[in-house]
Amino acid sequence: MKRVYNFSAGPAILPEEVLMEAASEMLDYHNSGMSVMEMSHRSKIYQGIIDEAEKDLRTLLNIPDNYKVLFLQGGATVQFSMVPLNLLKHGKADYIISGHWAKKAYEEAKKYGEIRKVASSEDKMFSYIPNVKQMVFDQEADYVFMTDNNTIYGTKFYEYPDTGSIPLVNDASSSFLSEPMDVSKFGMIFAGAQKNVGPAGTVIVIIREDLITKELPAYTPIMLRYDIQAENGSMYNTPPTYGIYLCGKVFKWLLNMGGLEAIQKRNIQKANMLYDYLDQSKMFFGTVEKKSRSLMNVCFKSTSQELDEKFVKEAKEHGFDNLKGHRSVGGMRASIYNAMPVEGVKALVDFMREFEKNN
Ligand SMILES: *Cc1c(COP(=O)(O)O)cnc(C)c1O
Repeated sequence: MKRVYNFSAGPAILPEEVLMEAASEMLDYHNSGMSVMEMSHRSKIYQGIIDEAEKDLRTLLNIPDNYKVLFLQGGATVQFSMVPLNLLKHGKADYIISGHWAKKAYEEAKKYGEIRKVASSEDKMFSYIPNVKQMVFDQEADYVFMTDNNTIYGTKFYEYPDTGSIPLVNDASSSFLSEPMDVSKFGMIFAGAQKNVGPAGTVIVIIREDLITKELPAYTPIMLRYDIQAENGSMYNTPPTYGIYLCGKVFKWLLNMGGLEAIQKRNIQKANMLYDYLDQSKMFFGTVEKKSRSLMNVCFKSTSQELDEKFVKEAKEHGFDNLKGHRSVGGMRASIYNAMPVEGVKALVDFMREFEKNN
């Protein structure tokens, strides 16, 4: 068996310890005589798994008691519909368009209300985060929508907009649990699991209780109602049982590492290694504004497209996989989520240095 250094943007690398533990429990979970995949979600043993996952997540993020934690399905994209369907009480919302996913969320929300672009960085290919200090929000907006980390272009918010009493909704899919986060600043946070915490399909929602309402149009799809999901402990129907189990293992892995302060330190160290190299290289350069640089998705290019292609190909031959940039950006993207070890980034930088010397 040979594992590669996997720089995929998602589904992405998971901690090896977690995968091994899951493998060891595959046929017989805790003397149940069955795999977690095979057990009833209504069983006591499975209830233990989901309860513990929630408890550990609450510890990691220090989630206040007036927030519900939901484990839902359909990935982050379903939240692009669920947020407006549930939160648009007066029909207005402000969206910050800082990247591809934010734009998708905006386009979807427009079906349900009067949705305003409050700021956008599309003029420069989403290579920066709009200045939060200059944003003026509609006081009648039901919520403000933002995207914590821009997975495709490689930028991140270092400062959150001050929305006053308007709830701030944060799509944190690609930076979730990569650093501490003050949950109380947000009305809601959601994250698709496959970037930093588990397998694709599962999405984690953290929502302030007062935003959950029963006063929704009768046609609102039952599966897309936060009130129904919250009342049923994320089990209105069969939840993504195995995905939640793996997320739970990743939460434990983080707790054992020392929690979010510890992982943040490691993430900054990894990102700096790459950016420092890029800043002095004569062949490679980072593609986004320095003060908006993502700690999770490092986007860069070389001096030509041919060289980019050669680099991606040779890197793959040397065990550095999935470095090709998103099709809309080109170049390269190294996604260095929590589970990417420091050695992986160090080895990549060494390889880039060699490549630069030889080309
Ligand atoms: C990947 C991603 C999504 C989409 O996730 P799905 O699970 O595929 O729906 C949405 N938002 C952000 C920020 C992402 O990185």
